[in-house]
Amino acid sequence: MKPLEKRFDLGFFPTPIHPLKNLSERYPGYEIFIKRDDQTGLASGGNKTRKLEYLIYEALQNNCDTVITAGAQQSNHCRQTAAACSVAGIECHLLLGGEEPEDYNGNLLLSHLLGASLHFTGEHRKGEDIPVLKQELEKEGKRVYVVPYGGSNFIGALGYVNAIRELKQQLENLKTEIDYIFFASSSGATQAGIMVGMDLFGFHTKLIPVNIDKAEIEGTTVERIILDLIKQSEKVFTLSRKYTLKDIPLNRNYDAPGYGVITKGEKNAVKTLASAEGILLDPVYTGRAFFGMLDILEKRKLEYGSKILFWHTGGLPANFYYRKELK
Ligand SMILES: *Cc1c(COP(=O)(O)O)cnc(C)c1O
Repeated sequence: MKPLEKRFDLGFFPTPIHPLKNLSERYPGYEIFIKRDDQTGLASGGNKTRKLEYLIYEALQNNCDTVITAGAQQSNHCRQTAAACSVAGIECHLLLGGEEPEDYNGNLLLSHLLGASLHFTGEHRKGEDIPVLKQELEKEGKRVYVVPYGGSNFIGALGYVNAIRELKQQLENLKTEIDYIFFASSSGATQAGIMVGMDLFGFHTKLIPVNIDKAEIEGTTVERIILDLIKQSEKVFTLSRKYTLKDIPLNRNYDAPGYGVITKGEKNAVKTLASAEGILLDPVYTGRAFFGMLDILEKRKLEYGSKILFWHTGGLPANFYYRKELK
């Protein structure tokens, strides 16, 4: 598995996996576990750490001394990219949508503290200004590596291919099998990596990815992006089968309010896990995915006796930004 070894060490792995005993008691017949990618260790953790291990490796391999990426002001991806650049000794530029706020909060504050150069790009919210900034920096003699939106390309997805190898080993050690895995799916690379990893390592479980952002990405659906990333992986991996759109699971029942809109559902989910287990979710991604999982458990849609894993993908700092919605 050579492509999986080309990584730059950024996090603490394996991340812990453990049962949620108090929560499981509320849902008789179900055994619920959690995988703690909120504990990857990089400046308050999250799933982007796994992607960045591969992206930063490539940046260093290409002798780049500067990274540009883009996202929302509360982007967990941008915060972790800023931290990863600090570790690797790379200059980091973040293109953030909207106008500069008077005070910094949540992920924005952390990105600032982590030493990234912040560029507020107004209506250009998806990195439209990257080519211009890249050119400017190159004129100054910098060697620039562009990390895609959300760290979501094939290189980033390798982080979750590797995560499946890690999870499989952990479950073997625990002598436990998992029937369902819930997680938040947004820009597609986490899910694509998980699906490729499951194929490569012969890991069988049902995925219930909860879609976060109902909007299309540059005119295509997340399902198509995921399928495309799986197809790209065939250049370096031999998969056991051909995948089509029908093979891409994605639960779209909870994305209706739109990206970053916090409803009662997300708020209750954050508070439920916090009060039952002392674990903090975030309101945008994991809160929505956990809301979906609790709804499905409450409606008893999964077979009695199922073992369920919630994959926590991080996002803690956003709680501070959404403090009014969460009160
Ligand atoms: C980015 C992010 C996700 C979604 O990961 P994708 O690879 O974009 O699907 C989930 N949870 C959190 C906390 C994130 O920051």
